[in-house]
Amino acid sequence: MATREDLLQELGLLPQWKRRPHAGLGAAVPEPALAVVVAVGEDARRHRIAALEWPAFAVDVDACTACKLGATRNRSVPGVGDTNAEWLFVGEAPGSEEDARGEPFVGQAGRLLDAMLAALGLARSNRVYIANVLKCRPPGNRTPEPLEVDACLPYLDRQIALIRPRLIVALGKSAALALLQVDATVASLRGRVHRYQDVPLVVTYHPAYLLRNLADKARAWEDLVLAQRTMAGLGPPAGK
Ligand code: URA
Repeated sequence: MATREDLLQELGLLPQWKRRPHAGLGAAVPEPALAVVVAVGEDARRHRIAALEWPAFAVDVDACTACKLGATRNRSVPGVGDTNAEWLFVGEAPGSEEDARGEPFVGQAGRLLDAMLAALGLARSNRVYIANVLKCRPPGNRTPEPLEVDACLPYLDRQIALIRPRLIVALGKSAALALLQVDATVASLRGRVHRYQDVPLVVTYHPAYLLRNLADKARAWEDLVLAQRTMAGLGPPAGK
């Protein structure tokens, strides 16, 4: 694989961005060249992630320092489940229990997610994969910041490419926005089938939200019925 040096050499950037020993203050790195170097580095990172296979995936996530969450988390939480799954459930980010155990949805919200899966006749190890938009816990479970989502999304994209799920369920606003690249409420996105690339995607409420808003559980159930109907409409799985 080409190294960063190779890429820079090919772009003819190397002589420009190398620091000159006796240059005056501010003369070392022309700013446009520095911006290009950063962009090339980020591009190389995205290409590397897009080529990861499962054995290297979790290791790569665990070594990631692309955003500040890598410095505050205890464990990275890449995802769990059947890597050949038909169903992919995507949440927001690990919470404290997930951060301690390295597995998504193991806290109270996870128990509700397990109940939702059971209502569909599913379990987290069978035909289902569970992942989050962020692989590291935001301190205090705050909402993910746009830069964090942007840095982490290549991992979710790669998981989707490797799993090739038949249907995606976006749990809550963060997952819906990250996957659909729209700014909208869950209420306005639920009730119809969207697409992530060519994969049908259904939006529903996040289990943690449902724990606080019991009245919306009936709506979440409607969403799951829509998801199940959509899956049934896809016909028998080919090669799954
Ligand atoms: N909430 C999430 O979105 N993901 C988890 O893994 C746990 C709680």
